[in-house]
Amino acid sequence: MQSQVGQLPSKIPFVGPVFAKRLEKLGIYSADDLLHHLPFRYDNFAQVAKIASLQEGETVTVQGKILEIKNQYTRRGFVLQQAKMADDSGTLDVIWFNQPFLTRILHTNDPTSLSGKIEKKGNKLILKSPKYEHLASREVVSRSYETTSQEMIHTGRLVPVYPETQGISSKWLRNKIHHLLATNLDQRLHQVHFPDSLEQAEQAREQLAFEELQAAFEKARKRKEEWQQKAVGRKFKIVEIRDQLTTFVKNLPFSLTGAQKRVINEIYKDLAREVPMNRLLQGDVGSGKTVVAALAMLAAHLNGFQSALMAPTEILAQQHYQTLTTLLAPLKIGVGLATGASKDYVNYDVIVGTHALIADQLKFKNLGLAVIDEQHRFGVEQRGKLAAKGKNPHVLTMTATPIPRTVALTLYGDQDMSVLDEMPPGRKLVKTWLVPPGKRDAAYQWIKDQHSQAFIICPLIEDSETLADVKAVKSEYARLQKEIFPNLKLGLLHGQVKDKDKIIDSFRRKKTDILVATPVVEVGLDIPDATIMLIEAADRFGLAQLHQLRGRVGRAGQQAYCLLFSDNSAASQRLKCLEKVNNGLELAEIDLKLRGPGQRFGASQHGQWELKIATLADLQKFSTIKA
Ligand code: ADP
Ligand code: MG
Repeated sequence: MQSQVGQLPSKIPFVGPVFAKRLEKLGIYSADDLLHHLPFRYDNFAQVAKIASLQEGETVTVQGKILEIKNQYTRRGFVLQQAKMADDSGTLDVIWFNQPFLTRILHTNDPTSLSGKIEKKGNKLILKSPKYEHLASREVVSRSYETTSQEMIHTGRLVPVYPETQGISSKWLRNKIHHLLATNLDQRLHQVHFPDSLEQAEQAREQLAFEELQAAFEKARKRKEEWQQKAVGRKFKIVEIRDQLTTFVKNLPFSLTGAQKRVINEIYKDLAREVPMNRLLQGDVGSGKTVVAALAMLAAHLNGFQSALMAPTEILAQQHYQTLTTLLAPLKIGVGLATGASKDYVNYDVIVGTHALIADQLKFKNLGLAVIDEQHRFGVEQRGKLAAKGKNPHVLTMTATPIPRTVALTLYGDQDMSVLDEMPPGRKLVKTWLVPPGKRDAAYQWIKDQHSQAFIICPLIEDSETLADVKAVKSEYARLQKEIFPNLKLGLLHGQVKDKDKIIDSFRRKKTDILVATPVVEVGLDIPDATIMLIEAADRFGLAQLHQLRGRVGRAGQQAYCLLFSDNSAASQRLKCLEKVNNGLELAEIDLKLRGPGQRFGASQHGQWELKIATLADLQKFSTIKA
């Protein structure tokens, strides 16, 4: 079910290149993807009623002939479409707004089906802005002409409503999916798109979800099998280098936490084995994953191997490069940074970079260890590509995103898990408040009084930054600078900004007081002096993600604060959990519960798990069966 990037758009029947491009925004690359693009709800137009029996307020389908249809121009420049429809029981007035093309689509005497809400105008019933569909001109689907000689898809039934994108409407999707279904025998797909009843739709959806989970589960199992069959010549000597490792640890500016020691030992055990390591290190923001990675890299170096660390953003790669240089350069270990431009990094011992690391031109001498930070930001293929730069190197992936047990069991069955469940000492909890809208000005004043550095985060509406999102953060930045904080220096950071590192650097060096940003700062950014994190429209984020965001402040052990704003009062119970709970994994579990079982992974931050159909509830059910 996973989309194949690079597959030609023309592979989807009935879809031309322009629409294929738009479909990519919905993650649809193939006919199969399109068939698995499920409705998020159904309009119930199943009740077909005679015109004479219509009641005000009911949602119905009426079927008959158009008696007349015309455009009516109003004085204010609007155009109404007025029509009369008749069946054998009576006539009904129909009205649409600003759809002048309708007079070219719906013709007098055409048998037509209209679905919508019956309203009262004066003492007359009218049908306002109904959905419409020709009855006669549609191709014949059913073979028995005596019963229905055609299938309605936009009216007269449970009508699927889909996640849409610019230029792709539910109506368009319905047509295409209906075409594709004509040659598809899978009843579950028929029932999920054009169900006979809501029960059947849900049953079909659940079956498809289980199929998806089963496939993901099998995939992980297969990956594990393949991995274990890899013969390796990468068995690291660990006992022999123990002294050097111990000296390194002794020279650190801090002592390792118990959890760090435990995890490092787990990693060293892996490295000393024949089978290459495939371990996922999970640890809350600030739990100290980087030094664990550095210790693994040091072991690789002492065994004569190169290592690579891949990070999802340039900001983060830059930061890791600096950290690793500080840690490893004194030991005469050459640390290199691979950014966009291609270069030969063959001579560095440790190479840090973004996905530039997996570019074909980039060659390694003898890559023995691949580390992938914030692994969920990379696809399975990208991770595989980095590993393929060496001869079955050991692989360590790291994430601050908590992975609930159910998810780990189902989707990460191939990886061994390590958890950093202990914070370095002296960390203060970030004091968190959900601020009522009425206290916004007071909050701004409070920020001024703190004389400290602050982040102000404006959310993204979609996964990737769109122009509208950027505009939102730009105008908020302008508003804050001009009206709220005229005496402070503000910086602006989002994905499309050119000199990201300059902006971050000026923030780090306190040349800027407040950084207005999209969640590009979410992953890993380390600004020691910032103590305030203000988050707009916090309800758009998952709890675990908010937790990651607040992990950006108080990094040097000061008391730090997180202010959450939200206009959505329905979300306040969920957001208030952040005031009390301080553990990422626990917050993720709460999110699973509070966001409701219907929450789909694809539509949320859980999109990282690459599930399109399965909901959290499905996953929970599935993992109970598998456990
Ligand atoms: P993350 O797990 O979020 O990647 P980092 O590796 O960036 O966390 O570590 C966060 C900060 O904590 C860094 O400044 C690092 O030097 C520091 N740190 C890591 N381990 C310890 C420790 N055992 N004691 C004190 N500080 C530590
Ligand atoms: Mg990190």
